[in-house]
Amino acid sequence: MSVKEIPYKIYLEEKEMPAQWYNVRADMKNKPAPLLNPATLEPMTARELGQVFCEELVRQELDDTNPYIDIPEEIRSFYKMYRPSPLVRAYCLEKKLQTPAKIYYKFEGNNTSGSHKLNSAIAQAYYAKRQGLKGVTTETGAGQWGTALSMACAYFELDCKVYMVKVSYEQKPFRREVMRTYGASVTPSPSETTNVGRQILKEHPGTSGSLGCAISEAVEAATSAEGYRYVLGSVLNQVLLHQSVIGLETKAALDKYDITPDIIIGCAGGGSNLGGLISPFMGEKLRGEKDYQFIAVEPASCPSFTRGRFAYDFCDTGRVCPLSKMYTLGSGFIPSSNHAGGLRYHGMSSTLSQLYDDGLMEARSVEQTSVFAAAVEFARVEGILPAPESAHAIRVAIDEALKCKETGEEKTIVFGLTGTGYFDMVAYERFNNGEMTDYIPTDADLEAGFKGLPQV
Ligand SMILES: *Cc1c(COP(=O)(O)O)cnc(C)c1O
Repeated sequence: MSVKEIPYKIYLEEKEMPAQWYNVRADMKNKPAPLLNPATLEPMTARELGQVFCEELVRQELDDTNPYIDIPEEIRSFYKMYRPSPLVRAYCLEKKLQTPAKIYYKFEGNNTSGSHKLNSAIAQAYYAKRQGLKGVTTETGAGQWGTALSMACAYFELDCKVYMVKVSYEQKPFRREVMRTYGASVTPSPSETTNVGRQILKEHPGTSGSLGCAISEAVEAATSAEGYRYVLGSVLNQVLLHQSVIGLETKAALDKYDITPDIIIGCAGGGSNLGGLISPFMGEKLRGEKDYQFIAVEPASCPSFTRGRFAYDFCDTGRVCPLSKMYTLGSGFIPSSNHAGGLRYHGMSSTLSQLYDDGLMEARSVEQTSVFAAAVEFARVEGILPAPESAHAIRVAIDEALKCKETGEEKTIVFGLTGTGYFDMVAYERFNNGEMTDYIPTDADLEAGFKGLPQV
């Protein structure tokens, strides 16, 4: 066996970057269930979806058969400004843990938005521009998606209207200002600018808002203005497709050094980074060519996979969006306010939900104090200050590496490091002060969420 020295960072050359995205649905025997019209319970047609989303993105959303989809030249050019992202061998972490495991992470935080979300934002903005639209609307919670989209819209000179959950708008003024610097208009939600916002304000004066309510406002803003469509930064099939660039680059980098991972780990909020990272590897597994262990990591306070139901549910709290079949805690579920670590969406990508239900993927839930402990341990040896979301994957990567230490197995572990945590220092402060606590919903809490599931 030839032993090539593995560098700290494996970079690809520009010409080795993927020219096509990979659509894992094409290789799935059991396809993800279709989105349903909430009024008729019939599958959403392309025409219905086209009233809310851009045409080409609707085509991608509904495409269960083409395995490869060309990445347009304009998007590839933009990718070249911040990609390929490095695949890093975590030598220092391995040494600290004294593990025989080999740990790699794919780092997506090397751009101003600070996360992988830019990979899909630029694609969605491109298709909106090509359709001749004036602009797009969206919601943002923590702010990463809104930031990524405002960068993408600036690049293509599109108008960008972001509805930002009011509590984040007030508590994260720097995120808001980054978006405005890139030309986006940022409205705290609920607002007086939409019918649904005015209605919510009347019923709940003084509310600090929620993601579900911001989605409803963004959808109304898109459908009531000429030349606008709504875009979403996670959960949808099209977003997983764009994020496959992460997995394709990872696979190309590993292949260069003849490395085959045993375990691939990612954090899961709506499932886009995990879906993107594992897609090409999952394709090999689905086609019977290779086997891998895939692990989705979610917070114990919002455990969609590990304690949720696989059922049709609303994608938003306002119940204006189509129904999606997914692992869900119910659209009325709101994680405890003590939860600081992101990944608070009640549902999950329908593609990943199907793969999980078919036993092709595992899931673990982790508590936030142990997540922040892993984040700090990682930051001190590997240098990068991780986003709390990313630290969920770090937690399980460390746990798996420590298992190898016990058994002496030299497993190869790859995890997705989705972003940096510079805007999350209030959460780090709580952890550093010893004020962070864990919250795990009781079965009764979860039952209350399941009661709101629609009868389909
Ligand atoms: C949004 C986000 C996530 C979670 O979203 P997914 O769609 O599950 O990938 C994870 N990490 C970071 C840094 C994010 O911004």
